[in-house]
Amino acid sequence: MDGERAAWEARMESLLRELATVKAELDRGESDDVPHYSQIECSAHQWGRWLSQAIQRERMLQVAYSAGSKTPCPDCGGFCRVEYQNRTITSVDGPTEIRESVASCPSCRRSFFPSARSSGAR
Ligand SMILES: [Zn+2]
Repeated sequence: MDGERAAWEARMESLLRELATVKAELDRGESDDVPHYSQIECSAHQWGRWLSQAIQRERMLQVAYSAGSKTPCPDCGGFCRVEYQNRTITSVDGPTEIRESVASCPSCRRSFFPSARSSGAR
């Protein structure tokens, strides 16, 4: 697992370095004037927020789909069908639409979030 993780981290670092180079080239092409540092910082930060939101969406997708198609009701233990819905949350990087799993127990007449019931350690 450590080797696999190291490979993912190396790939991520390579992609981020390439992304930084591409973004810098795009910004350089926007104007012939020498930019003020605050313009460089603002443009970079905008894409940092975008990346953060993209990671949040992807991670929440993984969490949602880890719930499977059926999950036990926390009250009665009966198996309930899991469905998926989109929701916009307000993250520190701005509004972000995430996908989440939700299950409904017809016996208890309640809905619950299966992913919120899992280990919580991940
Ligand atoms: Zn129930």
